[in-house]
Amino acid sequence: MKIICVGRNYADHAKELGNSIPDEPVIFMKPKSALLQNHTPFYYPEFTNELHYECEIVLRVSKNGKYIQEKHASNYYDAVTVGIDFTARDLQDELKKKGLPWEKAKAFDNSAVVGKFIPVTPEFNRKSINFSLLKNGEKVQEANSSQMIFSIDKIIENISNYFSLNIGDLIFTGTPAGVGECVTGDVLEGFIENQSLFSVEVK
Ligand code: ZN
Repeated sequence: MKIICVGRNYADHAKELGNSIPDEPVIFMKPKSALLQNHTPFYYPEFTNELHYECEIVLRVSKNGKYIQEKHASNYYDAVTVGIDFTARDLQDELKKKGLPWEKAKAFDNSAVVGKFIPVTPEFNRKSINFSLLKNGEKVQEANSSQMIFSIDKIIENISNYFSLNIGDLIFTGTPAGVGECVTGDVLEGFIENQSLFSVEVK
């Protein structure tokens, strides 16, 4: 199982971090060890002083494939949820400045929080998914999947040109504006529409 993530997939988020709008999806990965297991606490990592939350729609891959065309992409995932791409922003800024890979800042243990999955039924509107994140009960991120620069289907097409998709892989589709810091004691709760799909406390 692997976790594939898209960076800079919402224009207002690219802007808030001072990044340009990409003309091709920005892709990075997290290993299996990055997945926060259910009912396991998330501990503030010791190597950062600026931990950021990034709430994102997450897809669950349900079919093996490579060179998947956009028009067939919807056959390759069967469930969606929201998750958090935890980021050590100070470390990431340092690595970016040096032109080095991001993994230490993005792919560390437990850096991927994944909520309860909602099955994608024929009634489920894949093109318009409202999602949001509350921090300590206050809304800090809110967006609709239609605001993505690269749609879910385009992302799947692009990723599969480089990496085989396998059943059980997870795809983080990028975060909208509103990312910010969290500290010990904060509680983060993610929603699709009005359905709460995860709640995680930073210990
Ligand atoms: Zn992200």
